[in-house]
Amino acid sequence: MPVENHPLLPCRICKTPAPWVGVKRGQWRSQDYQLYRCPHCHFSFVGNPSTDYEQIYTLEYYKGQGADPLTNYLDELEHPQQTIRQYEWQGITSIVSHLQTLKPTTQWLDFGCGNGGLVAWVKAHHGCEIVGFEEGAIAEIARDQGLPILTAEALAAQTNRYDVITAIEVLEHVDDPMGVLKQILGLLKEGGVFFYTTGNATRYRDRLSEWGYVVPEIHISFYEPLTLEYALSNVGFKVKSVGYVKGFTDIIRFKILKNLGLKHVSLWEKLLPWFIISPLVDRVFGVSSFPIGRKG
Ligand SMILES: [Zn+2]
Repeated sequence: MPVENHPLLPCRICKTPAPWVGVKRGQWRSQDYQLYRCPHCHFSFVGNPSTDYEQIYTLEYYKGQGADPLTNYLDELEHPQQTIRQYEWQGITSIVSHLQTLKPTTQWLDFGCGNGGLVAWVKAHHGCEIVGFEEGAIAEIARDQGLPILTAEALAAQTNRYDVITAIEVLEHVDDPMGVLKQILGLLKEGGVFFYTTGNATRYRDRLSEWGYVVPEIHISFYEPLTLEYALSNVGFKVKSVGYVKGFTDIIRFKILKNLGLKHVSLWEKLLPWFIISPLVDRVFGVSSFPIGRKG
């Protein structure tokens, strides 16, 4: 269908009327998803997202047989010492400790914590007061493992509570990014820091439908660093660029190994010079290019 047959949709970040830029077929649902891109803040989004979340985020999805076949959350929980996910956990905690001194009294919320793997890791390695927030089937699994996972109701009752909030590969799933960022700002203490990761759409801005990250059943919001600079400062964050700090080497290592289909750490990958590989990959994909948010 040509572009003129698609009405403009208001950008979910800045409200500017955004034109249709293409279509992407669902990865496991035979359905077309319409893609839009805002000319002002460069936010791209699925205009007709699936909102039957309980049907999408099933236990099968988290077992790795649904929308994201590369994830296997249950395996990560059961084998934390073997999973490549530990590189991501290591990288995140390294970057966060660069931004905020981590102490046993540090209050940390992992927003959209999935199976709670990061929660368990931070607790074990840094002793912070960390809790997770998650919904649905996976939250129950995390609770069964004894992890402190808040419900949406419990979270809604909190304000000015956390020194650190992380949202790792969460923002691409949300259909109301400004609402989520506002909530996160409200949950932070003065001086608290917000660190997140999400795919960088810059490289694919003119060919969004070709980007493998656009799995439209689950990934519906796509950002460039500029988009999040605009969004974060607009809800009241102080925005700061941290650049390529050391922890990104491990985060990118995890992403590369995951995309290669590896689940467990192994000798061959340990022998690779990640301190050279990860910065080179970062130059192409801009993993470290997003600004972080601070309150006050
Ligand atoms: Zn916009």
